[in-house]
Amino acid sequence: MRKIDLTNFQVARSETARDINRRIVLNLIRGHQPISRADLARHSGLQRSTVSVIAEQLIEERWVREGANGDTLRGRRPRFLHLNKGRVGIIGINIRPATTTVALADLDANFVAQESLPTASDPKQFIDELGPRLRNLIKMRPEITCEGIGVSLPGRVDLASQRLVFAPNLGWSDFDLKAALEGATGLPVELENAANSCALAEFWFGSQASGVSNLVAITVSEGIGVGLILNHQLVQGSTGMAGEFGHTAIVPDGLKCRCGNRGCWELYASNSAAVRYYSQSTSPVRTGKNGVRRAGMVPTFDDLLRLTEQGDPKAEGAIREMADYLGRGIAVLVTGLAPDVIVVIGEITRAWDRIGSVIAEAVNRHSFTRAGTRVVPADPSSQPRLRGTIALVLQKHFGAPSVA
Ligand SMILES: [Zn+2]
Repeated sequence: MRKIDLTNFQVARSETARDINRRIVLNLIRGHQPISRADLARHSGLQRSTVSVIAEQLIEERWVREGANGDTLRGRRPRFLHLNKGRVGIIGINIRPATTTVALADLDANFVAQESLPTASDPKQFIDELGPRLRNLIKMRPEITCEGIGVSLPGRVDLASQRLVFAPNLGWSDFDLKAALEGATGLPVELENAANSCALAEFWFGSQASGVSNLVAITVSEGIGVGLILNHQLVQGSTGMAGEFGHTAIVPDGLKCRCGNRGCWELYASNSAAVRYYSQSTSPVRTGKNGVRRAGMVPTFDDLLRLTEQGDPKAEGAIREMADYLGRGIAVLVTGLAPDVIVVIGEITRAWDRIGSVIAEAVNRHSFTRAGTRVVPADPSSQPRLRGTIALVLQKHFGAPSVA
């Protein structure tokens, strides 16, 4: 149960119950489509007449459409309801340090168009390059009404000011990306940290989300990000900075981190850590092997994954060491939060058949309780960073209303 926040509440008005029921019906249609009015009444417990009124309203507003009449055994033909996929478009922008992906998605979060561009190091130049592409994307499908833009960022957005306040990998400091994008497109813009976007994507659209109330997403790349959904809600913390588990100390007096602390989790369990383990295990100068590594060159994490697949024991050792540290950190999350599921996102999931058991062993060894948490890899083809941006916009219409 949530305590009433007396600094930020909404009293129940006469339309409140209608709004709640409408959102429940809209979500039931989303989850069970195609669905008849009778089944909607059964699933919701609402009167059939109430369901009909809400359905008519949703059809009128073009959120829902009727179609695909089904035959029943008794010959009656219920009119099935679907989300009107083509009505609403959402633009998703996934900004990463090297590349930015832009996509147009329908109401079912399917991408109907997608393109990429290099991420400019100057944010103003970035907006100049991105603006025309966004306007083209909107113009390309005139039948779709764009509801808004969601943005996933490798950084942190201040909750109050909505400004980008911390994005060391982008090198953009204190930039008002929201205002710049809204100015370039005329659409409302929602910004979110990449790990939080992934958590939203997995929670709203993921294959592991069914029946789940508490989900943790861990993004593993050059660093480690954690997005937390507890009791169906994204945890943001007082300023929007919650989830920085990558910068919690896991090795006492360990390596110095760019955040100022020592022994941070991401120094031991990120892609960069695996590359370091590999470099330490091989002599500093060595002639190329399998065409991947030339003398004195540092391999990329992709190289390591390829070497592992080719049976290179040192590459596999490096990846297993990274996985062991990943498991130790995951054990902290399992013990501390006991979520239903932890989803791991990143290139490392390609080696899951090799490292899944290493992670599981480390979690078992280091977690205090048997929380029953499932630790699973994300499906990379689902593009969680990008898909989460769609959830950011959609949750305004499909999320629980805030009352009291
Ligand atoms: Zn750190």
